[in-house]
Amino acid sequence: MTTAEDCLFCQIVAGEIPGDVVLSTDRVVAFRDVAPVAPTHVLVVPREHASDAAATAAADTALVGDLVAAAAEVAAADGLDDYRLVFNTGAGVGQSVFHTHLHVLGGRAMTWPPG
Ligand code: IMP
Repeated sequence: MTTAEDCLFCQIVAGEIPGDVVLSTDRVVAFRDVAPVAPTHVLVVPREHASDAAATAAADTALVGDLVAAAAEVAAADGLDDYRLVFNTGAGVGQSVFHTHLHVLGGRAMTWPPG
């Protein structure tokens, strides 16, 4: 289990590892994904460490709303009317970093369902 001490995204939030930060508040930080899969691919993360969105919701329900509101700001700043928000939850569906993060994806056509 990832703890705050050995968490990559905690280190980006703390400024210990460089990130292409596009939005920062007292509650959340948004930075561009290092391996983008769409023209806009931003990760919105809570400053407070939790392993996934459900754990964040259990600890601070309003913080999930802050993530979504920040994602909307990020999308608007990139000129997006249409965009996709994704919380991967669990390794089985592709979660690879165990600090809650909301993917903001846009700038190209997308299909449904996802792979
Ligand atoms: P997940 O697969 O939903 O856990 O998403 C993790 C995301 O973090 C992936 O899209 C990675 O490309 C991204 N990522 C991993 N390391 C970094 C980094 O150092 N900076 C920015 N994004 C990263």
